[in-house]
Amino acid sequence: MVATRELTRRDFLRLSAGSVAALGMSLLDMPGFTKLLEAAVEEIPVLWLQLASCTGCSVSALNSLSPSIRNVLVNEVVPGKHVSLRYHTTVMGGAGDQAMKVIEDTARNKKGYVLVVEGAIPLKEDGVHCQIGERGGKGISALEHTSRLGSDAMAVLALGTCAAYGGIPSASPNPTGSVGVGEVFDRHGIKTPVINIPGCPSHPDWFIGTIASVLISGLGSVKLDHIGRPVAFFGQNIHENCPRRGHFDAGRFAKGISEPYCLYELGCKGPVTNSDCPSRRWNASTNWCIGAGAPCIGCTEQGFPDAMSPLYNKVSNVSLPGINLTADRVGAALGVATTVGLGAHLIGNVATGRFGRKKGELNGDHNGESKQEGEE
Ligand code: SF4
Ligand code: SF4
Repeated sequence: MVATRELTRRDFLRLSAGSVAALGMSLLDMPGFTKLLEAAVEEIPVLWLQLASCTGCSVSALNSLSPSIRNVLVNEVVPGKHVSLRYHTTVMGGAGDQAMKVIEDTARNKKGYVLVVEGAIPLKEDGVHCQIGERGGKGISALEHTSRLGSDAMAVLALGTCAAYGGIPSASPNPTGSVGVGEVFDRHGIKTPVINIPGCPSHPDWFIGTIASVLISGLGSVKLDHIGRPVAFFGQNIHENCPRRGHFDAGRFAKGISEPYCLYELGCKGPVTNSDCPSRRWNASTNWCIGAGAPCIGCTEQGFPDAMSPLYNKVSNVSLPGINLTADRVGAALGVATTVGLGAHLIGNVATGRFGRKKGELNGDHNGESKQEGEE
């Protein structure tokens, strides 16, 4: 029996292009070909909700230089796939009923759109603390939008630490009862896949890179860590890759932010934070927090900011793979043998790809292993 395969429109166009090229003709000479080609570009509608947030993650994404946000939104983000941003409160021209209609029209295409959520979702008082639009004279809560649009989306990108885990709006005493998308979905039994792209704000590359991966290779291709972040961007520990790591190992600690030494004593959360900030850096790779002399405050981690507070107190009892460091043993107190042993162990883990936190390892359990100085 001969196996058959359905010829898709894309296959047809590719074969046509090959034939035309073989005849030495320009594709553009063929009547209607350009239109056909345009029609073959798959449009991925995106609804972008801005909830309890400062809009910083939008500003960060809009500042993307390479590719520019214009390229992402106007051109094909990957060959054959074009992101169509249908709704975004800050940048869209429409407002009122016209804007709400865009949401409704897009949401009719079940599992046919991507939902980007920026900001946390307040739960208290029936979600009255954050509403978008109204129905019958009553505001529609962020909770309702997230649940309804999230249920029908093909995927949800929780952009920024607020959307991913609650972030700053959920900081103690959390008067609005704010939580992240994942918690809303857990409470409501919503099974739509959620990709967390944290950061305060999130790096534009993390967002655009994740969208591009989903479009190129599908959702399943984005490998996530234990708190739902793409491993490609959050699989590395900052402390392991920090250019000031040599100072840490040698016990040279900065006493003020202008000093070029390790910032551990000033509260750096690099040992308990995962992201590729040291290599990617920010603002078109110009610099990053530690490079500018500021301790990492752990903005990409679940539980930020409470779990990282006080931000400028050093973490103690840091548990690195295979070794525990207490604050008093770090730095000068580390013997050469211990330092070498730690370095070799970490390098081995990175080389074999085994490095990655389990719950309770590094800051996987913010309430356990990594404590602020003075805490029990
Ligand atoms: S503690 Fe911070 S500044 Fe020091 S080496 Fe680690 S990540 Fe770098
Ligand atoms: S270095 Fe730390 S605080 Fe700065 S952006 Fe990266 S994870 Fe956030």
